[in-house]
Amino acid sequence: MARELVAGARRMVALTGAGVSTESGIPDFRGPNGLWTRDPLAERLSRFQSYVDSREVREAAWRARAEHPAWGAEPNAAHRALVELERRGTLRLVVTQNIDRLHQKAGAERVLELHGTMFEAVCLGCGDRRGMREALDRVAAGEADPDCRRCGGILKSATISFGQALDPAVLERARVAVCSCDVLLVAGSSLTVQPAAGLVGLAASSGARVILCNASPTPYDDFAAAVLRGPLGEVLPALASAAAGEEHRP
Ligand code: NAD
Repeated sequence: MARELVAGARRMVALTGAGVSTESGIPDFRGPNGLWTRDPLAERLSRFQSYVDSREVREAAWRARAEHPAWGAEPNAAHRALVELERRGTLRLVVTQNIDRLHQKAGAERVLELHGTMFEAVCLGCGDRRGMREALDRVAAGEADPDCRRCGGILKSATISFGQALDPAVLERARVAVCSCDVLLVAGSSLTVQPAAGLVGLAASSGARVILCNASPTPYDDFAAAVLRGPLGEVLPALASAAAGEEHRP
């Protein structure tokens, strides 16, 4: 069923989550080896209000940012399969919850970063935005909690933490895209984070067929026309070859 849907798709949108990058060595949050599964305290670092309120949390967050495995990560077969679908004209847009830019590194040209990017830092006071390298160089030079160079405000990676509002324009673009797609390909997301997860229901109620690729069950499995549980590094290349009308041989 999933192969037929992909082969017939003309306006596909992909919604991706952390599971797409685990095969690149970046842990997800809630999978079996997820950051939160192994260390529940890690959740505190991801809460917006804790970051604003606590210097201790900010210092820990900067240390974690400097050591993030994404800095040295390479895209995997799942990212590359989505690029193939884009180049073939099947896939219109990747809406990603990921902050690691691996879709772009793989060559994807149309990517919407719903939860921002870890490659930039932004001031929560004046909105000044700069490359993350500058902030991390300051951390490496001994500043445990670098502040905004322009106004002295709290500096934060340009990612959306829990409890922090998404950019309304970015969310609106995602909503418009899923409302007008014929197939929504969901990959590597537990679909427990709103409003991202709600895009699945929105797509289904707008008439899209949903293909859900995730190792573990999600609250949206019942919305899906097809559910695939295998590893994304195998599942997505197989779907990309379906779009090309080929037999997939791993
Ligand atoms: P999540 O951790 O809640 O869920 C990931 C899902 O992917 C899990 O259900 C897991 O079973 C599945 N999965 C993991 N590896 C897989 C594989 N190889 N094949 C098939 N399925 C696999 O992730 P989420 O839903 O994206 O929500 C987490 C939030 O944390 C997001 O907001 C995201 O921004 C952020 N996050 C991003 C990254 C990243 O950029 N790589 C990493 C961790 C967390």
